[in-house]
Amino acid sequence: MFDRKEYMKNWRKEHPQYAKEKNRDWKLKNPERYKAQRKKLYENRTSQQKERVKIRQNERNKKLKIEFVNMLGGKCSNPNCACKNGYNRSISALEFHHLNPKEKESKRNVCNSALRKLILEGKIKLLCSNCHHEEHEKLNK
Ligand SMILES: [Zn+2]
Ligand SMILES: [Zn+2]
Repeated sequence: MFDRKEYMKNWRKEHPQYAKEKNRDWKLKNPERYKAQRKKLYENRTSQQKERVKIRQNERNKKLKIEFVNMLGGKCSNPNCACKNGYNRSISALEFHHLNPKEKESKRNVCNSALRKLILEGKIKLLCSNCHHEEHEKLNK
């Protein structure tokens, strides 16, 4: 018996480039159906898949944090930090302080690309957890 599904699967495997183009055309012509399909796939994810995505995101975020911390000198930038030469022992105790608090107001968690931009613009200061709390205490006075 002719199995159309199997046939199409093999066809796609043999013509990857063409299949990709066809798929793109279909997506453009059927945005609603594409959306529904994506939604269904998303809803049917197994907990294992969800867990994997979470782990990957965490790893990515960790790598980015290391990168950003290094961009900012790798240690607490407060000259009066309780640690001599500025705290730098644990990356999780280093935090990004926004010099312009308004930029932070809009979103609680600034996404990574926005954060990178702010760092490059010199709008972020790296502080250890203690200095960060002190800084905000001063700002709130
Ligand atoms: Zn400090
Ligand atoms: Zn802050």
